[in-house]
Amino acid sequence: MSTNQEFDCVVIGAGVQGSFAAYQLAKHKQKTALLEQFVLPHTRGSSHGQTRIMRKAYAEDFYANMMDETYELWAQLEREAGVKLYRQTGLLVMGPEKSHYFEQVKKTLQRNRVPMVTLTSDNFNQHIPHVKLTEGDGAVVEVTAGVLYADRALKAAQAQFQKLGGVIRDNEMVTDIKPGPIVTVSTSAGVYRAKRVVITAGPWANRLLAHTGLQLPLEVVKINVCYWKEKAPGSYDVRRRFPCFISTESQESKEHIYGLPSNEYPGLMKICYHAGSKADPDQRDQQTDRSDIDILQCYVKRCFPGLFPEPAVVESCLYTVMASSLDQSLASFCVNSAWERCPPMTFHLSESDAFRQTPNQLYRAWTGYSSLS
Ligand SMILES: Cc1cc2nc3c(=O)[nH]c(=O)nc-3n(C[C@H](O)[C@H](O)[C@H](O)COP(=O)(O)OP(=O)(O)OC[C@H]3O[C@@H](n4cnc5c(N)ncnc54)[C@H](O)[C@@H]3O)c2cc1C
Repeated sequence: MSTNQEFDCVVIGAGVQGSFAAYQLAKHKQKTALLEQFVLPHTRGSSHGQTRIMRKAYAEDFYANMMDETYELWAQLEREAGVKLYRQTGLLVMGPEKSHYFEQVKKTLQRNRVPMVTLTSDNFNQHIPHVKLTEGDGAVVEVTAGVLYADRALKAAQAQFQKLGGVIRDNEMVTDIKPGPIVTVSTSAGVYRAKRVVITAGPWANRLLAHTGLQLPLEVVKINVCYWKEKAPGSYDVRRRFPCFISTESQESKEHIYGLPSNEYPGLMKICYHAGSKADPDQRDQQTDRSDIDILQCYVKRCFPGLFPEPAVVESCLYTVMASSLDQSLASFCVNSAWERCPPMTFHLSESDAFRQTPNQLYRAWTGYSSLS
């Protein structure tokens, strides 16, 4: 590789955020390099794995609103790449009927006219077999929600980026960033100069930002991604139209528990706990806490009687969340739900949308990066 290459933009980190940002930059005719520390594809960050939930069912309107644009941008990538990235499955939301969060989610769906079906304890099992609805829980189905095929989407974004002339350098760790009108980015293999830099380093963000003197209140946690075996094969299968689900709160936990129909591994349903224990991204599997799995086992045993209550497969993934409790619910979402928000987040910066802007303003403050749309 030749050193001292010049670009309009260098993107650091080839997870979903960086890959989609790079693809959009190339679409906007920006000469762009995407730098990744590991050989691609890899399973060390937050963007690996085959599936992610796409939904509008949030307590806040702004997430529901941004999803129209997000769906359209993923659909555009589907068309350009000629691959299927999304499967509509519906999303079952369950939670204490009178809880603030559950009520808010329902209201968001209603206010934004998102197609939904409200289920009662009487008709619940006609629609959702093999699940026990807890007494006092409400249940709604967001009809248009579904599954984004994550690994495939990441591959498609990177391939389209390259087709548009973008340069991917993997196995190349960024070791230094020198700000200035032209930013100098040094890696383990060379030096890049660019008018702008986008930093999408996920769990390694603070390590990278340390080169700049900037630190963010971020915390990295390990999520145990659990797959549970069906007792009767097909009971929770995507082909039998079993939906994704979120339990907003349960006897077992105040945290969300969520799941996706059996799909990527035949006969195994993915059910996870929406919190984890602090981890070092370079020594992820030294974090061996399984208290989340204990909670999930109790939940599965009680609410999903058609699954063996012991995970058959456990994979690992990292969340990067805001450490401060003040911003936890909003900002951790910003960092953690990139699949849903990734396309507009990287490009459509609206001054009035503080939440979507949060990460972008960080890039802007640091890099002088500005919206191209
Ligand atoms: C179990 C789990 C379930 C999830 N479910 C959902 C869901 O249903 N819906 C949803 O929308 N989101 C979901 N998310 C969240 C979503 O997956 C993440 O928010 C998203 O993948 C984050 O992408 P990223 O690009 O910011 O980070 P990453 O994927 O971690 O990418 C960062 C990249 O930067 C690279 N990098 C870091 N430092 C350097 C350096 N110095 N030099 C070069 N490269 C570097 C890393 O190697 C990495 O490839 C889930 C996440 C997990 C873990």
